[in-house]
Amino acid sequence: MRRKLIAGNWKMNGLRAGGTALAGGLAEKANAETPICDFLVCPPAHLLIPVADAISGSPVALGGQDCHVNASGAHTGDLSAEMLADTGCSFVVLGHSERRADHGESNALVRTKSAAAERAGLTAIICVGETAEERKAGRALEVIEKQIRESLPESAEASLVVAYEPVWAIGTGLTATPGDVAEVHAQIRKLLIELFGNDTGNAIRILYGGSVKPANAAELMAVENVDGALVGGASLKLDDFWAIGRSCP
Ligand code: PEP
Repeated sequence: MRRKLIAGNWKMNGLRAGGTALAGGLAEKANAETPICDFLVCPPAHLLIPVADAISGSPVALGGQDCHVNASGAHTGDLSAEMLADTGCSFVVLGHSERRADHGESNALVRTKSAAAERAGLTAIICVGETAEERKAGRALEVIEKQIRESLPESAEASLVVAYEPVWAIGTGLTATPGDVAEVHAQIRKLLIELFGNDTGNAIRILYGGSVKPANAAELMAVENVDGALVGGASLKLDDFWAIGRSCP
């Protein structure tokens, strides 16, 4: 039985006061009412330590939005997986489409970063998803399969997380239909079993991401093989993010 994971990707949003209030509010709710899912927040780097303090003692987990492949060294502006772990992170998002687009991150680089995450004891959330053009051309499943085969670590642990995020649905208000989500997630599950065997392939959680909000969360979270959500915009609103978690079946 896979427990659902509701992960908030704050992207490059939030200053100290607002970020700690948001995280503290979530921790308070999670302490008051045992959540039916796992909650994770991935704030920008400058908020990792204050957010770690704000959620301390609560069931809310902390994650980074990216990591460097090396543990330390001359890499100005980067953070290593070890540094994320040192702030209290247990997760790291890797290969988000915004990093693939803005920083030219390849599948091979994402795979190397996933090894760095494992080295530091972090659980990687590896993002895959097709563009609008690729979907229109009928290539969505082919593109996703290539990303899965090339971005995931060669030997995965059951704790690994994959996030299916159609690029055209991120931050646009557009959402994939439950039918499309079911088709892609079933294909990802099949691939995970092929690559890592039955036990691990069935244990890996597959999140859906792309304009998830309280109004569509229940329908999406009920789709087979949807083991949670990676949430951008709605994760910045405490009540919306909490409502998404509460909509898990
Ligand atoms: C994301 O950033 O991963 C995301 C899914 O964003 P949004 O929920 O805003 O579409």
